[in-house]
Amino acid sequence: MTTNWKEIESKYYMFLVRRQPMVLERGEGTRVWDTEGKEYLDFTSGWAVNNIGHANPVMAEAISKQAETLLQTSNQFYTIPQLKLAQILVDNSCLDKIFICNSGTEANEGAIKLAKKYGKKNKNGAYEIITALNSFHGRTMMSVAATGQPHYQEIFQPIPTGFTHVPYDDIEAIKQATNERTVAVMLEPVQGEGGVNIPDSEYLKQVRSWCDENGLLMILDEVQTGLGRLGTLFGYQSFDVEPDVITLAKGLGGGVPIGAFMAKDSACAFDPGDHGSTFGGNALTCAGAYASTKFIIDNNVPAHAAEMGEYMGQGLNKIKANHEFVTEVRGMGLLWAMFFDSDMTPAVIAAANEAGLLMNPLRPNAIRLMPPLTVSRDEIDRAMSKLETALTEAAKQG
Ligand SMILES: *Cc1c(COP(=O)(O)O)cnc(C)c1O
Repeated sequence: MTTNWKEIESKYYMFLVRRQPMVLERGEGTRVWDTEGKEYLDFTSGWAVNNIGHANPVMAEAISKQAETLLQTSNQFYTIPQLKLAQILVDNSCLDKIFICNSGTEANEGAIKLAKKYGKKNKNGAYEIITALNSFHGRTMMSVAATGQPHYQEIFQPIPTGFTHVPYDDIEAIKQATNERTVAVMLEPVQGEGGVNIPDSEYLKQVRSWCDENGLLMILDEVQTGLGRLGTLFGYQSFDVEPDVITLAKGLGGGVPIGAFMAKDSACAFDPGDHGSTFGGNALTCAGAYASTKFIIDNNVPAHAAEMGEYMGQGLNKIKANHEFVTEVRGMGLLWAMFFDSDMTPAVIAAANEAGLLMNPLRPNAIRLMPPLTVSRDEIDRAMSKLETALTEAAKQG
């Protein structure tokens, strides 16, 4: 007797996402298997989360050991995994302090609160934050308000105010939007959900200078780009800038749910009691995140990601050359997108699933590829061949 999990889902789970048809049961490295035993190359990695692959023994051991030791204490007490994680992240970044929470949107929520407190304390009560169109900052109300995509906001009106949205990769737009109420600029180093939009190599440096000249905080949402995805440990390093605040989540935990925001001492405006979290910084997820982060640093995984990213980019461009309907391929590190001249994403995803390759439907006319950072050359070769098959198949249905 096999359980019909899809029936159970439609009966019991709130309908908020159209799922891919397979029920995934286990994974190892870049591969996952469904309940039918079919194997897939996972080029979604849990939405750019499983940076060191599925079921990495380093994490499995850290988590199970911690589960036998201590799970949760609240932040009334000192706990070791939290402090080890804090130390390794601060020591390897340009930031001085960290607060650990549970997700990306919570990290952004915290960073926004920090900026508002900073404005109260240091900038005559300035509170407005400039963010970019096409950005994605999460699903809580403040993050929805920060997100520069109206379709995430309309049904939840009224939403919090205090955000000004400007075109991405346009320093003049930021300059024009700045006024005496502005306290911060908050941007993704590369826009992920918004379409893998890579800014001009000077953009973030220009933003840094503008923030310096006007006493604004530069906040980078590194929820998707952090921990090696762009080929450097933090995305800001790929653009040669030092932000005042960054937010992390997805890849930080290597699969366990965790987020964090980090700040320079000069931006740490909080006083005791201003912010907090019951689960934030708990021993279990911190042990997992520490194991993953240490693995990434010790093995120089970001450099591997940079090399594999370049290799995958070549593969994707070769495929583009073979198929007229592929209009663009763009990416950085191991975050890539492919665009089509029509809305063929559903057909491409279905054919890729059939061929044993999992990808993310980014737009009706675009897919996103973000394999674990530990992906091998051979796995990229196999994925490219499966993608080629899927495109040919989807085009036939065209
Ligand atoms: C995914 C994402 C978020 C939201 O993270 P959650 O953990 O889903 O709350 C925020 N910002 C960026 C850039 C993201 O990619």
